[in-house]
Amino acid sequence: EIHKTAGVFIGEFREEMYEIYRRKNYIITHLEESIRDHEIEIYYHSIIRSVTEKVCSLEALARWNSKEKGTIMPGEFIPILEKEHLSAIFDLHVVEQVLKEIRLRETIGLALVPVSVNLSLSDLETLDMVAEIGNLLEKYKVEPKYLIIEIPERACVANPSKVASVIDGFHAKGIRVWMDDFGNGASSLNMLKNFDFDLIKFDKGFLKGYDAGGRAEAIFRYTIMMIHNLHIHTVAEGIETRDQYLQLRLLGCEGMQGFLFTRPKPLREFFEADSDFIKNSRTLTEDMSSRQ
Ligand code: C2E
Ligand code: MG
Ligand code: MG
Ligand code: MG
Repeated sequence: EIHKTAGVFIGEFREEMYEIYRRKNYIITHLEESIRDHEIEIYYHSIIRSVTEKVCSLEALARWNSKEKGTIMPGEFIPILEKEHLSAIFDLHVVEQVLKEIRLRETIGLALVPVSVNLSLSDLETLDMVAEIGNLLEKYKVEPKYLIIEIPERACVANPSKVASVIDGFHAKGIRVWMDDFGNGASSLNMLKNFDFDLIKFDKGFLKGYDAGGRAEAIFRYTIMMIHNLHIHTVAEGIETRDQYLQLRLLGCEGMQGFLFTRPKPLREFFEADSDFIKNSRTLTEDMSSRQ
């Protein structure tokens, strides 16, 4: 009896392992096809200026609408592409789509705010992303101030000299660079000292367990103050409750991103006449980064 149960258990476990393996394999072998067949869709998540609650920029988040597997989320396929050194190709495709959609917004008179795109360390190590993205900006005739690069904290830890030089390269082209996922891994004060980021985004994990007067609040208060002393602005992601929003606004966090305000959505949904984005961004006069 026991042996039988164990056998079933191991059988199920093995089946699960195979399925993970099959999906991973699918992602690697179908990447090119997914780009060619327009299966990659860009969702945009609004970043809100805390004091006005107006949209000041959008973050581009990739979705893979696979014929075979349904929608695959970036949390699954990005780490796989990174490991296979395929993420640079993918992210350049995302940048290209974003630039096309910026041109489209311009054409139909939709308000223009900057769009941030996520780059992985593997991108920076496999291709000259500064040159590649510079070329795409020229090709699509988009001003560099409309594009922002997000680089995760873990990239700074893993290859500090690479990240530092890439930041300089983007700055030379007039493109701003934000640190993503701050407080998620091995954040160190040195990182703030040594990297010339235009803005720091707190990881949503940093917000977990947040309550007024608690440890997380004390750390937030101190960290935001310190970052402000460097004349850098902050954005908190993962804001889900009104309370979190009010607390962080009180601490001086300039920008917010989270399901409390809106969910990530494709560009076509921004076209709707009553979209928050249209209402909010018509009156937009300033965006988020300290330096412009
Ligand atoms: P990220 O860059 O830190 O993006 C924020 C993630 O948090 C997004 O998940 C967003 O939907 C989610 N989020 C924002 N606010 C809330 C909230 O209030 N509650 C909850 N539960 N979640 C919230 P998403 O779209 O699944 O992306 C996950 C990660 O995948 C991103 O984290 C980013 O690291 C990576 N990623 C997404 N698109 C791309 C891409 O085109 N290229 C690269 N290299 N990475 C990407
Ligand atoms: Mg990001
Ligand atoms: Mg983030
Ligand atoms: Mg994050």
